[in-house]
Amino acid sequence: MPELPEVETIRRQLAPLVEGRKLARVEILDPRWSRPLAPSELADALSGRRVQRLGRRGKYLVWHLSGDAYLAQHLRMTGAVLCEPEPEPAHVRVLIELAPKRRLVIVDPRRFGTGELLLGSDALEDFFAARLGVEPFDERFTPEHLRSIARGRSTPIKALLLDQRRIAGIGNIYADEALHRAGVHPLRPAGRLTREQYACLRGTVVEVLNAGIEARGATIDDFRHVDGVRGSFQDRFLVHRRAGEPCPSCGTTIVKMVVVGRGTYVCETCQPRPRRARQSRR
Ligand SMILES: [Zn+2]
Repeated sequence: MPELPEVETIRRQLAPLVEGRKLARVEILDPRWSRPLAPSELADALSGRRVQRLGRRGKYLVWHLSGDAYLAQHLRMTGAVLCEPEPEPAHVRVLIELAPKRRLVIVDPRRFGTGELLLGSDALEDFFAARLGVEPFDERFTPEHLRSIARGRSTPIKALLLDQRRIAGIGNIYADEALHRAGVHPLRPAGRLTREQYACLRGTVVEVLNAGIEARGATIDDFRHVDGVRGSFQDRFLVHRRAGEPCPSCGTTIVKMVVVGRGTYVCETCQPRPRRARQSRR
């Protein structure tokens, strides 16, 4: 699934192609994309509006449109936005014709992607307030903030990192990479890290997200740039998807385990298992 760095990569590529242009014609081919609105309702509401700015919040692309309207677009598992694709791709869900002339195609093989219309900046604010916590690049995401949202929680720290309502934009890849770089086991109870570990983890979260953006995202399955090119951060993973390989820091074999239902990659020398989890394993 595209995470913050992948969505930010798309935003940076797409913004200069769409900002200042008008949505001349929108055709939504999949009713799942526009729910709860019918495809024609959403298409009508969007058509004729000018794209003032393309923003991002968490893993959402946010189209700021004329008339105080917003489209909150989520790519979910396999969504991609392609500009002038040649030849015509498979799995097309939405066609957008811009004026001056430019053609965008939203493809999505697994069809979980969505586009939600929000009328007015209050509606936009409410939409995200109900769904997303702090942005990792926001100055409010301090070590103290991470500590305060973790306080008293016995759920694994990885679950906290993945919880979009607490911190926006982190998914499975960047959670594994941030925890490894901080030397924190993903099963550590979220509320039981030391003050130093919260500070370190806050730093490695920002570090891996920045590294992901610099590498223009990671392509594991379907993630593609606006021009169809793949990202390269997958070549820089230290632990994610590297089970059976030696840890780059200490040489211990990286293991795969399931944490909160997600395939999770750990070096259990650099990231010591919490004592309680060690006991419950016997
Ligand atoms: Zn190691």
